[in-house]
Amino acid sequence: MVDIIDRRSWGARAPRRRSTIPLPTPELWLHHTAGGERGASGMRSIQNFHMDIRGWSDIAYSYLIDRDSLAVYEGRGAGVLGGHTFGRNSISHAICVMGNFDVMPVSDALVGRIAELVAHGHRQGWWPAMLTGGHRDVRATSCPGDNLYGRIDEINRRAVDPGDEEDNVVLRNGDRGEAVRRFQTALKGWNARSLPRFGADGDFGNETETWVRNFQSAHDLGVSGAIDGVTAALLLEYRPDDVDHSA
Ligand SMILES: [Zn+2]
Repeated sequence: MVDIIDRRSWGARAPRRRSTIPLPTPELWLHHTAGGERGASGMRSIQNFHMDIRGWSDIAYSYLIDRDSLAVYEGRGAGVLGGHTFGRNSISHAICVMGNFDVMPVSDALVGRIAELVAHGHRQGWWPAMLTGGHRDVRATSCPGDNLYGRIDEINRRAVDPGDEEDNVVLRNGDRGEAVRRFQTALKGWNARSLPRFGADGDFGNETETWVRNFQSAHDLGVSGAIDGVTAALLLEYRPDDVDHSA
């Protein structure tokens, strides 16, 4: 359970416009503000900047985190169209950490906090079990900063920690989307001959299930054919560096 400081509590202005998006969204993106904001006053200044200078309808992000206090703030919230990740807004939410993580360090506590928020939102039915990636994966930007971007796999491992009391099945036959593609790419990284017919197509079908079983068998895991927390963590070890780091 993550306590979230709602809009009223941080003194948000009313949005100019508000549109809804279907839940759960297939994608979840990580951002930083690239500034030095903190706390509720930081939330108000980010919102003012986005509405008054950028001319947007509201603060851009779905949820924001204070890098030091680790407080979680409601931005636009769940199920509301954001303005964070160009081209992906109607199918995603965004978590943004206040700070500039091209230069600021990222604490283990912050990594844990982001992971908690990811897991919380997944349990609420808002978004997938893991971050899809960082803003730079889909846009020419350094966001969310090198230091935070480099922790995404760790955040995702902690978000799906099999010690969690919740049912920890992450993905199974019939699922589709970027998270599926990420694990299919990892399967190819483990065994280049895997997924011979369909490759990393983002569809978790029978071929993917067969190769998840092969992977689990080869690693002495329970052979379920579903990507649970343990399988997810091991698979991510094989994910090739598939990201263009150029800004
Ligand atoms: Zn960003």
